[in-house]
Amino acid sequence: MKKLQEKILQEGQALNESVLKVDAFLNHQIDPVLMQQIGKEFATRFKDAGITKVLTLESSGIAPSVMTGLELGVPVIFGRKHQSLTLVDDLYTTSVYSFTKETSNDIAISKEYIQADDVVLIIDDFLANGQAALGLIDIVNQTGADLAGIGIVIEKGFQNGGKKLREKGYRVESLAIVESMQAGDITFRNGETQ
Ligand code: 5GP
Repeated sequence: MKKLQEKILQEGQALNESVLKVDAFLNHQIDPVLMQQIGKEFATRFKDAGITKVLTLESSGIAPSVMTGLELGVPVIFGRKHQSLTLVDDLYTTSVYSFTKETSNDIAISKEYIQADDVVLIIDDFLANGQAALGLIDIVNQTGADLAGIGIVIEKGFQNGGKKLREKGYRVESLAIVESMQAGDITFRNGETQ
């Protein structure tokens, strides 16, 4: 997605060779126009998949997921990382190791919001080593629902999450694939969906 690549080049910051900071439009300040375009792009790519729910993780997955849910006309559920007094019902839970925080988080969703007859699209902001996506896949498997695929805003192609998920047979659609961030220079892989 060209607009996203341009935005990454203009406003993204390679903090080192493996961490990309995009607080200017995705992880802290949010660019709603870009999010809307991202939502349209995911919706177009998955329009024939029969999706009934979008599943993501709080907090950075929520903006692109809501825009995608709006385009597809389906609800959006986000996995919660923190215990909440209102989240006391029957839960599906899994543990996810966080690439950026270097700790494990238990994430939970209420059993109320995904059923076995749902078709789920997982969306997340980044794909690095695949831990977040694998955690969300584990939750979908617990629900008995079908998984249509995984939509990623920014995949880091030099880390192994994308390869791992595609080798397992999952459909992964990434809107931008960063090939390398050597010396602060961000380059993209051609053919964004491979
Ligand atoms: P994974 O679980 O695939 O190793 O990492 C994906 C998760 O870690 C995403 O949910 C995202 O929040 C975070 N993450 C991984 N790499 C980066 C990065 O380079 N920049 C930012 N901002 N977040 C990242």
